[in-house]
Amino acid sequence: MTTIPEQGKVYIRTFGCQMNVYDSEKIYAFLQDRYLPAATEEEADLILLNTCSIRDKAEQKVYSLLGRLRGLKNTKPELLIGVGGCVAQQEGERILRRSSLVDLVFGTNNIDKLPEIIDERVTTGRKVCRVEEDMDSVPSAAAPLSRSGNDPTSLLTIMKGCDNFCAYCVVPLVRGREVSRAMSEILDEARYLVGNGVREITLLGQNVNSYHDPETGAGFIQLLEKVDGMASLERLRFVTSHPKDFSGELVEAMAGLKSVSEHIHLPVQAGSDRVLKAMGRGYSRDEYREKVALLRDRVPDVEITTDIIVGFPGEEREDFEQTLSLLEEIRYQNAFSFRFSPRPGTAAAEMDDPVPDDTKRPWLPELQEVQNTITAQKHAALVGEVVEVFVEGFGRRDNGKLEGRTRNNYIVHFTGDSGLVGRSLNTRVVRSHKIHLEGVIVT
Ligand code: SF4
Repeated sequence: MTTIPEQGKVYIRTFGCQMNVYDSEKIYAFLQDRYLPAATEEEADLILLNTCSIRDKAEQKVYSLLGRLRGLKNTKPELLIGVGGCVAQQEGERILRRSSLVDLVFGTNNIDKLPEIIDERVTTGRKVCRVEEDMDSVPSAAAPLSRSGNDPTSLLTIMKGCDNFCAYCVVPLVRGREVSRAMSEILDEARYLVGNGVREITLLGQNVNSYHDPETGAGFIQLLEKVDGMASLERLRFVTSHPKDFSGELVEAMAGLKSVSEHIHLPVQAGSDRVLKAMGRGYSRDEYREKVALLRDRVPDVEITTDIIVGFPGEEREDFEQTLSLLEEIRYQNAFSFRFSPRPGTAAAEMDDPVPDDTKRPWLPELQEVQNTITAQKHAALVGEVVEVFVEGFGRRDNGKLEGRTRNNYIVHFTGDSGLVGRSLNTRVVRSHKIHLEGVIVT
């Protein structure tokens, strides 16, 4: 029979968006009394898959990963395996029926219950599934404030869920309706983070612009002002902004607040009004362009990133060309682009699509080529320039090199020692790459 080790190790595999990254941090915090983080799956006593269902084939990915864990479970029968996140929320007990390896399934609103879910599995010997919704709670808020690492950057969730019901999106179905955390609680967490060495905070929500304090009604701008006022905080970022709610007031906050970085992720999704309407995005191409023009006018160094869906039901070649022309006009720093895939339960999954798949298939690589060229041009233009970076740690891609980020979101790799982590310094850009820049420290 499985027992809970007095001090076991947990390995969390995180899929998907930053909300999931944040939830995984919280899971570590909820389990910290009994589990230390494991470096590999092999040394873990508990493996958790924090899943994402935004893209198609997410379920298949989870099941194929589970298949790969079979050998490990065979050699270590006491190993516990759990599935959480959006796929768990959608699939629930079906996961337990489909995979005999899984011991527990927990939804996006149940991560605070994980210690008791594990207890129940161990003491009863029965598999456990907890995916019930509790729409009034913001579970992340209840997480213990803990920081196990020395990371100078941190995510901080300010709200969960979404009320927008864009035609293609499962978020409102799996994360629930929009609920904001109390500002007092967010500020307590921010103070705690800054007091423990964090110098850069990213505020997280599916639509941060519609944040409102449930206690006082104060909005996102007031929250930004309060966090910005914290001594020792160097940089404040936020994600995601819905273009329809992106306001002139927020532009002024970005222009005026010292720690707010000159970068915004503003998902446009499509450049054609016809497709935007079918998606239910709530803004037109021209409204989006006007907001970007205002932002660039008030925050000249700002860089903009975006998300784009290619091949939405009914999208014709001329619609797609409007997306291409918008890309050329806005000149995004980067665009995260995906081919449309119907997600169960969404309005788009029911839409007829007279445009053949073969017609649409080449569009995504075509769009990515256009964006790659723009990104490469932007990177090349920085070669020879001195840019200030905030040193986040050692990069994963460039072994042994430090990784820093400019205020406007360019990633720079350079040689240096660990004592520089958490500091801002100047680097001269010496080379440009597809994803990052290479620099040397300027003394
Ligand atoms: S705004 Fe639209 S795309 Fe974004 S989370 Fe909400 S429903 Fe999904």
